[in-house]
Amino acid sequence: MTDDLLARRKRLMGPNVPTFYTNPVHIVRGEGVWLWGADGTRYLDCYNNVPHVGHCHPHVVQAIATQAATLNTHTRYLHDLVLDYIEQLTASLGHGLTQAVMVCTGSEANDIALRIAQAATGKTGIIATDNTYHGNTAAVSVLSTRRPPVGGYPDHVRLVPAPDMLRPVGGRLEGQSQAFAANVARAIHELEQSGHGFSGMMICPIFANEGIPAVGPGFFEPTTRAVKEAGGLLLVDEVQPGFGRMGSHFWGHEWLGIAPDVVTVGKPMANGHPVAATVARPGIMAAFRNAFGYFNTFGGNPVSAAACLATLHVIRSEGLQQHAAEVSRHVHERLHSLRHPLLAEVRAAGLFFAIEFVLDADMTPASAFTESLVERMVARGFLLNRIGRHGNALKIRPPMPFSVENADMLLDALEDELSRLPVMAP
Ligand code: PMP
Repeated sequence: MTDDLLARRKRLMGPNVPTFYTNPVHIVRGEGVWLWGADGTRYLDCYNNVPHVGHCHPHVVQAIATQAATLNTHTRYLHDLVLDYIEQLTASLGHGLTQAVMVCTGSEANDIALRIAQAATGKTGIIATDNTYHGNTAAVSVLSTRRPPVGGYPDHVRLVPAPDMLRPVGGRLEGQSQAFAANVARAIHELEQSGHGFSGMMICPIFANEGIPAVGPGFFEPTTRAVKEAGGLLLVDEVQPGFGRMGSHFWGHEWLGIAPDVVTVGKPMANGHPVAATVARPGIMAAFRNAFGYFNTFGGNPVSAAACLATLHVIRSEGLQQHAAEVSRHVHERLHSLRHPLLAEVRAAGLFFAIEFVLDADMTPASAFTESLVERMVARGFLLNRIGRHGNALKIRPPMPFSVENADMLLDALEDELSRLPVMAP
């Protein structure tokens, strides 16, 4: 069955359409934090942030079904639901970010953020970290650095080394914060010299795809100063940390202690329904609207808006942010008691965890070891994956209702696997 699907997928979708795991998983049903495979295997979802309030949450399902049975149309008619949602979303953001462009994917939202920065500054140069992902449109794929673009990076893009506490550039926390800012300042200078000018810097405030390095509040302060002094915009990609996942804060930028000029949201925003948004202050948004005259056929349509409102309602009514904080504390404590000769560091940012494995004191990444750990955990019914530049950190990022009991099941199994898994070459 799985082999048939893989062959059909390749025949119908072409090569190079990625799936997770050596033995890809064929999922047919989900509920809460659980998923069921076609062969009846039950998996604990320890990985997916898209089903933010739990797979197939009945309130979100009902809201989508009711609205789909009432009206769904494109976005150039008047409708109240999208406005109700933008009011609620922007009220949670603060910083004067009161206007939103509604789109369908995080990639589009970041694409718009780049264009907002261009329109507001009249410049095109953009900075991101060198090991990240911000999406797959032509404009943002050059900031998504897993695979260099055909023809190399365009000259208006500058990539600065991502923070990495195990292999720090400039020393531990304080030194690395200064070194990071110095690299950004250098990139700004280069962009200004090159004629592109500096329009802004895009970051994920928890550096999620970079491996959630333990940066914490204060890290970004010198960089913020450099960006603002140069007249650039701080474009904050909240696609991963947003909507309560940090536990202590609703948004990743609050967690990092920074004031964004533009925020993008997506993925968890409607529990799996494809919708995303770019949020900015009115003055900045006016520059964008005047320069680009943008519309999006599906972005924020009535069904999407209903899904967004329902997801926000569940986050609040079920106290999921507070729940994430409690579960995060528990998991973090247990992670600290994990023991293995290759385990270098455990990291947490709310309900998002990384466990990094290295081969030696030079911090050589234990990528093959981590891969095999993931495969073994999947075979035991725990969906997980890898993160970071070398794919040598285990990534745990479950749906928000993930409980202390779920966490204990996962960590008991992980302890057991670690006790069995031999130390392997890279
Ligand atoms: N930004 C970040 C930080 C992401 O992780 C992703 C997707 N993983 C995106 C943007 C792109 O979102 P989408 O796949 O919805 O286009």
